[in-house]
Amino acid sequence: MLSLSDCSLSFGEVQVLNQVNLDVYRNEFISILGPSGCGKSTMLRLMLQLLGPDKGGQVTYTSSDLSLGMVFQKPVLMPWLTAVQNVTLPLELGNKKKFTKQEAREKAESALRLVGLQDFMNHFPHQLSGGMQQRAAIARALAADPTVLLMDEPFGALDELTREKLNFELLRLWESPETSLSSIVMVTHSIQESVLLSDRVVMMSPRPAGVTDVIQVPLPSPREAGMEELPEFHY
Ligand code: ATP
Ligand code: MG
Repeated sequence: MLSLSDCSLSFGEVQVLNQVNLDVYRNEFISILGPSGCGKSTMLRLMLQLLGPDKGGQVTYTSSDLSLGMVFQKPVLMPWLTAVQNVTLPLELGNKKKFTKQEAREKAESALRLVGLQDFMNHFPHQLSGGMQQRAAIARALAADPTVLLMDEPFGALDELTREKLNFELLRLWESPETSLSSIVMVTHSIQESVLLSDRVVMMSPRPAGVTDVIQVPLPSPREAGMEELPEFHY
């Protein structure tokens, strides 16, 4: 769906990425692992085209239906807006497609329902737990119907139990016919999470990083393992 080829990137004197090649295919879940400071967030910023690679490198969107959603490491919600307003606002401002107030509101509400926040739509961020804020941020990314979801350590700040719940929720969302999600690229520091969730683990070496190894995770996906229905969690 998108492809990085020979992407190098330096900030001034400091080279962060060194000829990274990575293809994100349709219907796959990729985890990106690597030590702090190796350039994982930078690589996601390249995928989003918030940054361009140095000369010679190329970021190509290879799919005509590609649209990107992003979940940042910290759930950056506007503290003066409620959950539903936080999700609605970017849809109304929409850099690609603009929605009317009514359409935006409906899309926002359905995204919040998808992540289980139907009873918290009118809560302000400080009235939500960390996990709920993160789910609101995921709803905001999903509301615009992305086909590829980029996530930068989305669950890093959460306790293990909440993290595990959200891992399963993410898999359910990914498999849900209610979203257009095709592929997920998630940066994580948890090897366990990467093995549980992804089809492919990308290891980045310390700076300047190239993607040194692309390892196929030798585990079946939850569906292949016979988990027809992923567990439901209630809050
Ligand atoms: P972490 O796991 O801690 O989030 P990371 O792998 O995401 O780390 P990046 O945030 O991509 O690492 O940063 C990689 C390197 O690039 C770091 O050394 C950082 O200081 C540097 N860097 C990132 N953004 C900039 C910038 N805008 N200007 C200068 N240096 C930057
Ligand atoms: Mg980072």
